[in-house]
Amino acid sequence: MKYNANENGFYGEFGGAFIPEMLHLNVEELRQNYLDYMNEPEFQREFHQLLADYVGRPTPLYFAHRLSAKYQAKIYLKREDLCHTGAHKINNTIGQVLLAKRLGKTRIIAETGAGQHGVATATVCALMGLQCIVYMGEIDIRRQAPNVARMKMLGAEVRPAVSGSKTLKDATNEAIRDWINNPLDTYYIIGSVVGPHPYPDMVARFQSVISAEIKQQLLEKEGRDTPDYVIACVGGGSNAAGAFYHFLEEKKVGLIAVEAAGKGIHSGESAATSVLGKTGIIHGSKTLLMQSEDGQITEPYSISAGLDYPGVGPLHAHLFQSKRAEFMAVTDDQAMQAGLALCNMEGIIPAIESAHALAVLEQQTFRKDDVVVINLSGRGDKDLSTYIDYFK
Ligand SMILES: *Cc1c(COP(=O)(O)O)cnc(C)c1O
Repeated sequence: MKYNANENGFYGEFGGAFIPEMLHLNVEELRQNYLDYMNEPEFQREFHQLLADYVGRPTPLYFAHRLSAKYQAKIYLKREDLCHTGAHKINNTIGQVLLAKRLGKTRIIAETGAGQHGVATATVCALMGLQCIVYMGEIDIRRQAPNVARMKMLGAEVRPAVSGSKTLKDATNEAIRDWINNPLDTYYIIGSVVGPHPYPDMVARFQSVISAEIKQQLLEKEGRDTPDYVIACVGGGSNAAGAFYHFLEEKKVGLIAVEAAGKGIHSGESAATSVLGKTGIIHGSKTLLMQSEDGQITEPYSISAGLDYPGVGPLHAHLFQSKRAEFMAVTDDQAMQAGLALCNMEGIIPAIESAHALAVLEQQTFRKDDVVVINLSGRGDKDLSTYIDYFK
């Protein structure tokens, strides 16, 4: 079994590029060039230099003593929360902005839901001196005011999407429309392992630095470069793809992908895509997504803004279907308790997204010498008011 994308961007039956004719040239330009550019030694040098000096990589692999004692396993946290801008997303935006420059693009567009990808994109555009336009649903602009302020501070223009439900999928439509209208000078930075080929493969490769570091760090700390389990939350799936990447073919490494069950998988307010989803096309990719009988995309729900995406990337649809990864669903309540526990036991305030991955510790039993790596995708500063409202 192969878990990486084939030449046409398919992971098993999922993936591909289902795009309007008008987008064909843009996507094709990227598809023909991305691997050549990424494999150039000078590209790799510049990418890794920025990851080191600007993002702060390698991020630590922290042995969580108290969690390990409580759950009777060797629990390590991969500290993506310590990246510049507070999450793993910057690994990908740095990679894509370097690619955009090599393609001669001067104008960057992106869409954002919770605002985290918008902030990461605005950050790298400031770094590179490129114009940056971020599309965001009008409702999300109101819900995520601090991130909107950050993007503006960084010099980006935030354009409201006022159609449909005024959330992420409408912002995506606006970004696609922009790209169709500006094919020559514009590059579209997608923030997760979603979208038409080559985006899922490209984003997974940029994020794969996470598992490359885990391997090396485990070798130093445990004398072996594979853990027994890797656990990561899945919105679109980029932090999980990065944390799983170098272990995909290592069958003895258990991969656990954690989705947001919101108020309960079958409550009607959930984002547990793998359980609830059916095959369909979203964002130019064939994958599992939550949809009604007649194929309309259903609005997802999660207390965590980064996980309420109605689909998963095609790699994850394939990992689910082939059973290479185990998919678990964690409710709002379980995630909030796990987040609070990490604050109290390890002095780390996790993003609520990452708290979903931590909640697996309460649901799964491990053996005492199991090495368990949990990808701590981001820090919880952005979520403080949600935590405080929840626990008051
Ligand atoms: C955006 C985000 C996620 C979800 O996105 P993936 O592409 O699934 O990784 C998870 N954690 C944090 C902290 C995020 O900002």
